[in-house]
Parts: sequence; C-alpha cells; structure tokens
Amino acid sequence: MQRLVVLGGGTAGTMVVNKLRRKLDRAEWDIVVVDQDDKHLYQPGFLFIPFGVYEPSDVIRSRHRFIPDGVDLVLGEIERVDTGADEVILADGRRLGYDYLIIATGTTPRPDQTPGLLGDQWRTSIFDFYSLDGATALASALPAFAGGRLVVNIVDMPIKCPVAPLEFTFLADAYFRRHGLRDRVEITYVTPLPGAFTKPICTEQLGWMLDERKIAIETDFMIERVDDRAKALVSYDGREIPFDLLVTVPLNMGADYVGRSGLGDELNYVPVDKHTLLSKAHSNIFAIGDASDIPTSKAGSVAHFSVDVFVGNFCRYVRGEAMTGSFDGHTNCFIESGDGKGLLIDFNYDTEPLTGSYPLPVVGPFGLLKESTANHWGKLAFRWMYWHVLLPGRPVPLPARMSMIGKRTPGPPPGGTRQPAEPDLATTQEQR
Ligand SMILES: Cc1cc2nc3c(=O)[nH]c(=O)nc-3n(C[C@H](O)[C@H](O)[C@H](O)COP(=O)(O)OP(=O)(O)OC[C@H]3O[C@@H](n4cnc5c(N)ncnc54)[C@H](O)[C@@H]3O)c2cc1C
Repeated sequence: MQRLVVLGGGTAGTMVVNKLRRKLDRAEWDIVVVDQDDKHLYQPGFLFIPFGVYEPSDVIRSRHRFIPDGVDLVLGEIERVDTGADEVILADGRRLGYDYLIIATGTTPRPDQTPGLLGDQWRTSIFDFYSLDGATALASALPAFAGGRLVVNIVDMPIKCPVAPLEFTFLADAYFRRHGLRDRVEITYVTPLPGAFTKPICTEQLGWMLDERKIAIETDFMIERVDDRAKALVSYDGREIPFDLLVTVPLNMGADYVGRSGLGDELNYVPVDKHTLLSKAHSNIFAIGDASDIPTSKAGSVAHFSVDVFVGNFCRYVRGEAMTGSFDGHTNCFIESGDGKGLLIDFNYDTEPLTGSYPLPVVGPFGLLKESTANHWGKLAFRWMYWHVLLPGRPVPLPARMSMIGKRTPGPPPGGTRQPAEPDLATTQEQR
C-alpha cells in the first residue's frame, strides 16, 4: 500500500484529492488530506462582504462536504515535515508517514510583518479584506465612514489574486458614488509596483480606469512602517501617505511549517519546477496552488488549471514514466469594476493579458480587458461553479492550456521596440 498525504484542504488540496481518488487504485493507495479546521472558505467572496453583497455564511462550508469517500480528512495544525523520515508531524504530536507528499497550504496575509500595522488603529481605522474577520469588520466600518482619505494599499508582491485590491478600489468608488459621498472621499491606491498592474497593456487599461474615476495612484511605494499615531503610511524612501481609513493587503506568506521544515524560500514558498510542480529538492514532494513559487498569479484559476495538468503527470510519475504534461502558467481572473460591470484577463507565463474575447472569438461572451455586464455576471456565477464543479473536481469545458483564440496581438509600438520587461507579479520587491 502506498500513502499520499496532501497538506491543506483548501482550493487546490480539495480539487486534487477528488481527481486523484478517481485515478488511483483504492487497493493500492491510501489518500490523506490534512487541514487545521473544518471551514472551507470561498476567498473570492471576501471582496463582496464589505459592500454587503455577500454575508459570511455565503462563503463558508464544511470541508467534509467536499472530501470524497476513500480519502481521510485529518483535522490538525501541521507543525513540521521531517523529509528524512518522510513524516508529517502535527502540533498535537500525531505523525503521518507518506510515500508522496503534496503541499497545498496556500498563502496567508501577515499583518504582523509590517511595523505599526497591528497597532491601536488595527480594526479601528485600518482594515484588510483578505481574511474573513477583516472583510466582516470592514462591512461594519464602511457605512460609518462619512468622508476623508481612503487609502488602499498593497504591502508587497506576490499576493494572492493580485487584481483584488484594484477591484476593492473600483467597488469603493462606486459604493461612495451610490451613497452620495464620493465628493467627500479622496481615494488613493498605493502599490509597490511601478503602475496599476504589471505588463504594459493591462497596466495602461487599469491605470486609465483609475484616472477616469479620479483615484490617485502612488507607485513604487515600499512600506517601512505604519505611523499609527499620525495615521500615515511611511515608505523606505521617506514618503508619507496620511489616511482616515486604510484598507491594506498585508504581506502574504506561505505557511510557517514550510520554513521550519527547510522546504521554502524567504517567504515560505516551495521552489518547484514551474511546469511539473515537482519540488526542486525532494523527488517525492510536489507543491500546488498558492504554496509554490511558480512565477504566475496566485489564484484559484491557476490552482484549477495546474491541477488538471498535475493529475495526469502524477499518475505517470508514480508508475515510473516521464511527466509529459507541462503547465504553462495559465491564469484567468474576472476584475469587478463597479456599477455591475467587470473585466476579464487571461494570460500565462509567456503571454501578457491581451484584449479580445473569451473563450470564443467575437461572440465571447466575455470581453478581455473590456468592461461589460457579462464579465460581472461571470464573476458572480463563479461562486456556484466553485462549490459545485471545481471543488468536486468535475470536468470544466475550458482547456488547461491558454489559448490565443479570440485574443488580439498588439502590433509593434511606434519606433519598433518592445517595452522593457516589467517586474512579475510573483516577484517580491527584495528580489527585484
Ligand atoms: C480577497 C480575495 C479574492 C480572491 N479572488 C479570486 C478570484 O477572483 N479568482 C481567483 O482565481 N482567485 C481568487 N483568489 C485567490 C484564491 O482564493 C486562492 O488563490 C486559492 O484559494 C488558492 O488555493 P490553495 O489551495 O493554494 O490555498 P487555500 O485555498 O488558501 O488553502 C490552503 C489551506 O491550507 C490550510 N493550512 C494552512 N496552513 C496550515 C497548517 N499549518 N496546518 C494545517 N492546515 C493549514 C488552510 O486552512 C487552508 O484550508 C482570491 C483570494 C482572496 C483573498
């Protein structure tokens, strides 16, 4: 009997055990998945909670519901992986041996990593929406905000769903307009990136949308600390940005046990081959979803497309065959832009987000990098898809590999030279 242990029963861990249970012979394979609690959170829904569109109950389900027969769900905090003994050690001392290990413990916002963020203003005038508690607290704070300086800020890259802070900003602009307050609210978007996003075409479109909404943008802003007495963000190069209400996306980090086990980089992400997700250091360990260091967005769509490729590869690998599937970094994300509209981006390791339509040419129905109501409804429909199709590992009629069908390729820019390469979403300021 072989034993596969999957660490993390979130988006990627749940999808992978559903798909692998169907493929691996029950007489030969035990499958165990470990998570610290029984609450599966639909994280894309956190964005809508501050604006009253979703309630917390819309985004929480019991994990047990999504774990198939023939897979053991072990609840407990992971303390360490002993790669010498091929054992996972839980905080309560339980030990789980493995033949193969899949790390799927994602990434977590860490406000404790920025001096001053968790000071007196935390959850008084400083909020986040990357945690369920934060999004819920913000749902009470927003209606009480009568005007002043709203600052939306990203501490550093990479973060999961890198478009979510922009979406929050667009939704806040629409929310204050709807409540007749917009002329009393000054909105500033503060980012460590050199523009609204990365890659030229997308940055130009999203930057223009901020401009159109009279939202100021402060770029290349690396926070040193939050001065919670003066209520200001302070950067390493001495800039200060005062706020009345700060909505921050704290530094995102992989799980601490990854670092403690010597399995991670400086942010606790597991270095893997970007096409097969096999650990660079251990031949029986893989990392999927946000937990790995692959150079694409950390997103549920990446977890989905990469798991589709991974499952076939894993089955070949354990039979001693070559992993012939190659994940191309495919990501797609809806971007809410307010007033019942949204955009869609679709890209991979080599192709930046382009304009056009998706998944079909001309008819779409989704527009790439173009605001439309269809994109907004696509985003809202995604929650149903998540619970009923993606998590149970049912087939989705969208290819894992990114397609150029429907995409418009830009001609050479005036003068004939391409723009210089821009920092990637998966790259931290320190690495840059
Ligand atoms: C506000 C917001 C909006 C988003 N919007 C989108 C979107 O529109 N589209 C999109 O594609 N993606 C979106 N995402 C990103 C998406 O939710 C994540 O990329 C996806 O959930 C990653 O899946 P994962 O399995 O890697 O990690 P997770 O789903 O986070 O699962 C990790 C699991 O590991 C467990 N775990 C961690 N540490 C331990 C430990 N020490 N012991 C035991 N268990 C542990 C956790 O409890 C968790 O269940 C959004 C995320 C946020 C926060």
